[in-house]
Amino acid sequence: MDFLAETLRGQRHLPGPLPLPDGSRVEYVAEGVVRITPGSPDAETPWRLISAGVHGNETAPVELLDFIIRDVLAGRLVVHSHVMLQLANPAALRSGVRYLDYDMNRLFGGAHRRHAGTQEALRAAELETLAADFFAQANADRLHLDLHTAIRGSVFERFAISPWQDGNRPAPEQLSWLAGAGIEAVLLHSAPSPTYSYYTRQQCGAAAFTLELGKARPFGHNDLTRFQGIDKALRRLLEGETPDGDAPPPPLFTARYDIIKHSDAFRLHLADSVDNFTPLADGQLIAEDGEHRYVASGGNERILFPNPNVQAGLRAGIVIHPADH
Ligand SMILES: [Zn+2]
Repeated sequence: MDFLAETLRGQRHLPGPLPLPDGSRVEYVAEGVVRITPGSPDAETPWRLISAGVHGNETAPVELLDFIIRDVLAGRLVVHSHVMLQLANPAALRSGVRYLDYDMNRLFGGAHRRHAGTQEALRAAELETLAADFFAQANADRLHLDLHTAIRGSVFERFAISPWQDGNRPAPEQLSWLAGAGIEAVLLHSAPSPTYSYYTRQQCGAAAFTLELGKARPFGHNDLTRFQGIDKALRRLLEGETPDGDAPPPPLFTARYDIIKHSDAFRLHLADSVDNFTPLADGQLIAEDGEHRYVASGGNERILFPNPNVQAGLRAGIVIHPADH
């Protein structure tokens, strides 16, 4: 089994379960999706879904999963969790683009039905079913990590997005675990969203995070040494570790408001190269659009995901601020 190469070749012939000497079993369950069943699971055995490549140009986490499966098959990594590894958008990975028809991370939680006929909608529906079936068999120890990288640089190179969970914060031990995995900041979402991690949090009862792990580069151009922290943490999860720890939790942020592009008159008054989490000075004009003016206040706000090139009516950035621990 050559997970990544076969997925990129579009292999749809799925070989049967592959038994390993340690008693575990590896099997393809769909294109780009592998399940690992440990040798002697019991009621305490944790359940871990790791997805990468929801955006097809974000290749480093995809390579991490490929190396992990190689090590499992070679007996260098012995799995003591129920694991599903997903290369989420093989068609976009093959083309080296973020998406083919529509941004897949806006299509979960049923949103795919509003974009029926797009390639990403079909795949998002398939991933939802795979995740739901996987976690339907699970005990309470469920975790989904959806791995991404970003085009833009970031003041915090690696950060997590915690999907909305009915106003509840992630458990402190999960925040500590994220810090131990090299995550430097956590954005707490303050509303439902059509992302994959929101779906598994809400519909599958999993602890779930979107992880932004550094810069997006094409296959073969990734410096995987910059991903060692998360790589080690993923491997420990597969070995059966529970996500907790005693590292100080990362700083938390919440959204204050979205900057909306109302018209083509929209002007973002930040450099094209501005990093995510760049601080905004009190009184700084962030953007304007006709009579709409977005001005920073208080001196502790920061900009996240600025993008003036979206269609009118869509979000062109988020203004965030620190949240209390
Ligand atoms: Zn992404």
